[in-house]
Parts: sequence; structure tokens; C-alpha cells
Amino acid sequence: MIRRLLTLGALLAGLVLAGIATGIPTGTSASVGTSMQTQEAFYPSYEQIVARLSRLEAGFPDIVHVREIGRSSNGKPIMAVKVSDNAAQEEDEPAWLFLGIIHGREPLGLRITLGLIHDLTRGYGVDQEITDWVSAYEIWFVPVQNAYGYETNRRKNGDRPGVDLNRNFDFRWDRCAVYQPQCTDPYSSYFRGTAPFSEPETRALRDLALEQRPLFGIDFHHGNPFPQSQIMRPWSTGRADDTVLPTPDQARLLETAQEIARWTLASRQAGGFCQMGSPIFDPAVCRMPAMSLLAPMGQSSNWHYAAVGTFHYIVEIAERLYNDRYFYTPDPADDDPHSLQQAEEYVRNLSDGIKQWLRRFLHGKEGEGFTYRGPGITGRVIDARTGQPLEALIEVEGLTGDAIRARTSDPEFGRFHRLLPAGTYSVRISREGYQAETRRVTVADGPLVTFDVTLTPRQ
Ligand SMILES: [Zn+2]
Repeated sequence: MIRRLLTLGALLAGLVLAGIATGIPTGTSASVGTSMQTQEAFYPSYEQIVARLSRLEAGFPDIVHVREIGRSSNGKPIMAVKVSDNAAQEEDEPAWLFLGIIHGREPLGLRITLGLIHDLTRGYGVDQEITDWVSAYEIWFVPVQNAYGYETNRRKNGDRPGVDLNRNFDFRWDRCAVYQPQCTDPYSSYFRGTAPFSEPETRALRDLALEQRPLFGIDFHHGNPFPQSQIMRPWSTGRADDTVLPTPDQARLLETAQEIARWTLASRQAGGFCQMGSPIFDPAVCRMPAMSLLAPMGQSSNWHYAAVGTFHYIVEIAERLYNDRYFYTPDPADDDPHSLQQAEEYVRNLSDGIKQWLRRFLHGKEGEGFTYRGPGITGRVIDARTGQPLEALIEVEGLTGDAIRARTSDPEFGRFHRLLPAGTYSVRISREGYQAETRRVTVADGPLVTFDVTLTPRQ
């Protein structure tokens, strides 16, 4: 018992130092002494999470904007947090979307998202690099997508029968009947729901994504049957008789996944979890492989990519790292500090990898603005008659597909982004009632190639 408290106390102090504490004031964490306080620190109630986010907004009003994006199946507010300069305004900046706890009993997603929010808010105005990220991006978080599941430690958003939210998105929703037949059974853990977007949680996430059009995103999971953590990208077919084609962005999707995996490995070598002597995690094989997401069947990440164009990944943290019931029922009798410590090391390690991603995409500064790293294209579409931004179709020849929704410029700013492998492309910009424009563009390492396009209305 004494050993356990010492271990947890030391661990908590270490977390605060590493900036991973979940937003608890340092004074409180220093006074950890009872198991109740420990439980609250590591696994706050849903109400405590909501209150904590409100305090963050009050404490950092310029850079934190908190918004209720819907209500969960049990009537709780689903909270989205935006960290950016001028947070209350929509600005023409690339957006990121980090998501936690679509499956209620996978709480590390909460720790990672709250830890990143903590680091960004505390670093703004203090650390030049973090200040630049907050200025250059709109960084969105939904720390808990599934409030009911979090509160009850269940995968689904209810138990009578409840839906696996990660089978409820409208991208090949019907295919799970082929790949995972139990998804049609309301009492299965994988129940897909009665229709795509039948659930208030998935509708809230859908609407936020369609509004913000994030360029990058991660949905954090943990608990999987594989011995290693992994990062999964959209998508693979999984069956010879499936007709879905590889994504047209396959090369860049894979490259980015591999980079994140490599950065996580790099931070491991700097002292991360893999060196902690776990018999499972032999350092020789201990890395996060980049894999393709299993057969597309209603999952969130595939939808975010197919419908919005987001380079959206799932990070699966291996189950054996961590007893996922620990925080919820911290019974001293079945405590496992080693596993807990590994989990926290993993959170730190993964956070380092994500910061490397935020670092990597920022190419440079030009006056008051920023440039972003290619290869790829960006620009704005403007109406020649009115000078106003236009939503227009942006087609890169050879990189379209039936499985993905057409990519368009943002209606509010006319902004488009498309990451591409290095090469020369023909880009067609069109809108009904306007004369289409075609541009020949060569992209390479360096900043995104920028070109604005003015479309002229047809007479
Ligand atoms: Zn999961």
C-alpha cells in the first residue's frame, strides 16, 4: 500500500513536470494522498472534465474557445475545444482535430488530448515554437466523444442496446454486415446502429468536421488484440471480393503515418516507454507500425477522410500496456503500477510524436503569416465579379475516386489545401455557372505551392 502511494505520487509529480497532467492545478496534485484524490486526478468525472474546460477558456480567453457541439445519448454536453490565437474567431488557418474516447472504456484518449491542450495553453507566449503553432493553426479537440461510455466504462453509447459509435459513420456503413456480421446485432459490442448517423454523438462530430474541414486528425483508441500499438490510415479492402479502390491519397497518407510512427520511435530512443523493460516490448520490435485501417465499414477515420479530405488516423494503443479499468475502479488490491507507468510513458511518448507533427507541417513565417510544408498546393478561389470567396470543385487529375467526396474550397475563405506526392499535376478549378480554370503545377519539398484562382461567371 505504501509503495503504491509513493509510486502514484512520484508518477503524478512526473506528469506535472512533463506537462501531461490533465489540467489540475499544481497545488492540488502536490497534495495527492487519498485514493479519492488520485482517482479524480487520473479519471475525472464527466462533470469535472466539462468544468475544467470552462476554466481553461476563462483562464486563456484569447487562445481557448470551448463549444458544446451536441448532446450525448444520456443528455450530456459534448464539448469541443479550439486552441488558436483569436480563438473565438474563424480564421483562415489549417485545422487539426484530435479526438478521444469514441469508445468509452479507452480513457487514454482523454489523457492525451487534455495533456496536449495543457501544453499548448501553458506554452503560448512562453515557448516560441508553441506560440507559433497556436498562431498558425486552429487546433481542435473533442476529448470525450462518448460521454455515456466514459461514465459507465463501456464501449458503446448505451446499454439498451447502445451503439458502437465507431461503426455508425456514413462511409460504407452497410459493409460491416460482411466484415463483422455481429455489427447488426443490437447486443453486440459492435452494433452499428439502425442507420448511419443515427446517434447524436456521431452527428455532432460530423457537423463539426464538415464545418471546420480539418487537414489532419487522430482518433485515439486503446485496447486491441495486437501486441503492438499502431497507427492506422484509411483504408484497405480486406477482402478479395471488395470493390473499393485504394484511396487516391494513398502515398501521402502512408508517408504521414510512417512519419508519426518514426517520431514516436525517436522519442522512445530518447527514453520513452519501450526501454522500461517490459517483456512484451522488446526494443528491437518496439515501434508503432503504420498500417492500413481495416476494411472500411462505418468507422470514423475513414469517414473523415472520405467526406472531408482530412488525413485522419486511428492510433491504437496496445491493450497490454495498460489495465483500462484501473482509473475507473482504482482498487488498491489489484493495482499494477508497472502497467500504469508504462501507459503514462506512452502518453508522453505519443504527445512528443504529435508535437513533431505540428512542428513538421509549419514551413516558415512570412511577415505576419505562416507558410506550410509541402509537397502540395494551397490557395483561394475568388469570384471575379464580387471579389468574394467561392466554394469550387478542386480536382487533381488522376487523384479523384468514387469512394471519396469531391474536394472543394472552403465557402468562408475560398481556401483549398491538398497534400500531394512530389510531381507535376493538372489542377482543375470549377463551379457551375463559372468558366473553369486549369493550372499546371509542380510541387516538391518546401512550402505548399500557393496560387489563387479567380473564376469568372459565364455570360
Ligand atoms: Zn476503440
